[in-house]
Amino acid sequence: MKIGIISRNASLYSTSRLVDAGRRRGHVVRVLDPLRCYMRISRGKFDMHYKGRPLAGFDAVIPRIGSSVTFYGTAVLRQFEMMGVYTPNSSDAVLRARDKLRSLQMLAREGIDLPRTVFGDYPDDTVDLLQMLGDPPHVIKLNEGTQGQGVLLAEKRSSSQGMIEAFRGLYANFVVQEFIGEAGGGDLRCFVVGNEVAAAMHRQAPEGDFRANLHRGGKASKVELSEEERSVALRAAAILNLGIAGVDLLRSRRGPLVLEVNASPGLEGIEQATGLDLAGSIIAEVEAGFARLSMA
Ligand code: ADP
Ligand code: MG
Repeated sequence: MKIGIISRNASLYSTSRLVDAGRRRGHVVRVLDPLRCYMRISRGKFDMHYKGRPLAGFDAVIPRIGSSVTFYGTAVLRQFEMMGVYTPNSSDAVLRARDKLRSLQMLAREGIDLPRTVFGDYPDDTVDLLQMLGDPPHVIKLNEGTQGQGVLLAEKRSSSQGMIEAFRGLYANFVVQEFIGEAGGGDLRCFVVGNEVAAAMHRQAPEGDFRANLHRGGKASKVELSEEERSVALRAAAILNLGIAGVDLLRSRRGPLVLEVNASPGLEGIEQATGLDLAGSIIAEVEAGFARLSMA
C-alpha cells in the first residue's frame, strides 16, 4: 500500500515509528505536512498538491493532526476522504474528539459514565451553574486543551468563580467538573486500535499535582484493565467513531469514568511502558480497514 502519515514533523517519535512500522510491513510510507497540502475542489473532482507537485495514488492516510492545526488539518484529511483514500479516523471523528464538551455529550447519551460536568456562558448564572455541579473541589478545563494544559483544580467555590471569570475574560471555552479525588492523581490510558484495547497504562501525577499527563511529569506503568474498563474504552472509541483512540479513564468509586478520547494518542510513553509495538498494530489495522473499504 501507499500510506501517508499526516503530521507536521517527521522526527516526532509517533510519526517516525509509524513510518518505520509501515515500511517494515512492506508499504510505501510518506510523511505529509498538512500545512504543505493544498487542494482544488471542483464539481465531483478533488485534487491535492504538495510542495508544487500532485499527490496521487495514496491508499490510506493516518492523521496525526496537532491541536494547533485542527481546522486546516481536518480540511486536508476531508479532501483525502473525498479522493477515496482510507483513514482509520475520519475528519468528522477527529473534530468531534477535539471538542471535549461535544464528546462528553455524545458519550453520556450512550450511557458512558463521566465526571459530572457543567458548562455555561452568562456570568450572572455562575452561582447557579456551580450549584448544579455540587460542592468543590472542582476541575476547570479549557474545552480544547491538551496534555494537561488548561486543566485546573479549584478547592473552594470562590476559586472556581475566580478561575471561571478569568477564562471568560480571555473568551476561552471551558467546562467545569466534579473532582474525582479517589483517583489519587492517577488515570488510565487505554490505547484502542480497531476492536481491541491494544495496550493500557496507568499514569501517576507527580507529587503535588493531580494531572497524570506524561507531558506534566506523570509516571507511566503497565496495567491490567478490568473487563468493565476494557469495554468502556472500546465503547467510547466506537461512539466517537474512532478506529485509533487514546481513551482516558479515571478509577472512581462508581466505576470507570471517561475523561476524554484522544484521536492522535502519543506512542512514546505507552510503547515504553508496555514494550508493545503499537505502531505495527496501527499499520495492521489500516491494512484491514483498507481491505474492507476495497471490498465494499
Ligand atoms: P487533557 O486533554 O489536557 O489531557 P484531561 O481531561 O485528560 O485533559 O485532564 C488531564 C488530567 O487531569 C487527567 O489525565 C487526570 O489525571 C486529571 N483530571 C482531569 N479531570 C479530572 C477530574 N474531573 N477529577 C480528577 N482528575 C482529573
Ligand atoms: Mg488527557
